[in-house]
Amino acid sequence: MTLAAVLERAPGSLSLLDLALEKPGPHEVLVRMGAAGVCQSDLSVLRGKLPNPLPVVLGHEGAGTVEAVGSEVTSVQPGDRVVVAWLAQCGECFFCKNGQPSLCQVASTAMAGCTLLDGTTRFSRAGEPVYHMAGVGAFARHCIVAERAAIKIPDTIAFAPAALLGCAVVTGYGAAVNAGRVRAGESVAVIGCGGVGLNAIQGARLAGAGPIIAVDVNEQRLELAERVGATTCLVPSDTMVKQVRAATDGYGVDLAIEAVGRTETIREAVRLARRGGRVVLVGAGPETARLDVPAFTGLVVPEKSVTGSFYGSADLSADVARLVELYQSGALVLDDLVSKVFPLAEINDAVSYAASGEGTRTVIEF
Ligand SMILES: [Zn+2]
Ligand SMILES: [Zn+2]
Repeated sequence: MTLAAVLERAPGSLSLLDLALEKPGPHEVLVRMGAAGVCQSDLSVLRGKLPNPLPVVLGHEGAGTVEAVGSEVTSVQPGDRVVVAWLAQCGECFFCKNGQPSLCQVASTAMAGCTLLDGTTRFSRAGEPVYHMAGVGAFARHCIVAERAAIKIPDTIAFAPAALLGCAVVTGYGAAVNAGRVRAGESVAVIGCGGVGLNAIQGARLAGAGPIIAVDVNEQRLELAERVGATTCLVPSDTMVKQVRAATDGYGVDLAIEAVGRTETIREAVRLARRGGRVVLVGAGPETARLDVPAFTGLVVPEKSVTGSFYGSADLSADVARLVELYQSGALVLDDLVSKVFPLAEINDAVSYAASGEGTRTVIEF
């Protein structure tokens, strides 16, 4: 048995329920959760805006300690500290072999179905399955994930900052570094400075890019953007495109990253990119968000390219290891991104706080 925050109806609120938890399968790992972050997509499921099988244990960004492993598991052992990832990249499918592991066929199916890789759940209640949000279900004292979704980290890293590595950090950093292929000396604009956008800024800074222009409606987030590497901070306005051009010798930025997921901000990102520039869309917006730009005069003539990026286009075990090194060397800021910590018992308060748009990352500590 374990205690978990379950969504039974959407839109709705979370109920703390005792769930039966099976033993980990041969290629699975039982993790005692240490911390879990509240992500925008958890809120979307809660509000009924992102279709999801129910009932479901929410949470897909976390870190904890391995408590038990299946018979075939070799990469981790009980006592190891791990980040849990929401794609258990298989390493063997067409996409993994093609160098696009964030599109892993095997992992994507489980993620979308909110199950483990075999299509079934390990949580249940009165004999009925309870699903794992994005194949994880991190708002629980214990969760079971595929071996490849449990990425070993050093014991010296605290759970709260480590939890962010499971989604927001890798998504933002990877949008800049993997999908955006940002290089030293390039100019970058990031629209939306939440958990993902701030880490896109960090990715740009770590690659030696500059100027780095942060755009957000919230002054507090812009302060944090500056703290993690933005050289110019802007509140969206009619003169924004002019201001960005002024900061880039009149050209516009080499790379624009959209981390909001709204039609208007996507259009703005395309406008901020220079002729020949690149645009990366990473925002998890509603179904109604559109890429709405004039094709010929907006993209063809100015030769702008627009790319989508999912989960930081990351090779998770390699990228998480790299991010851990950067954090330990002091180059990657994580602690300051945790704006407020709640116990599991106050999960609905944590969700309301996260939904209020205040702060950057709300974290549940166990
Ligand atoms: Zn997430
Ligand atoms: Zn694969």
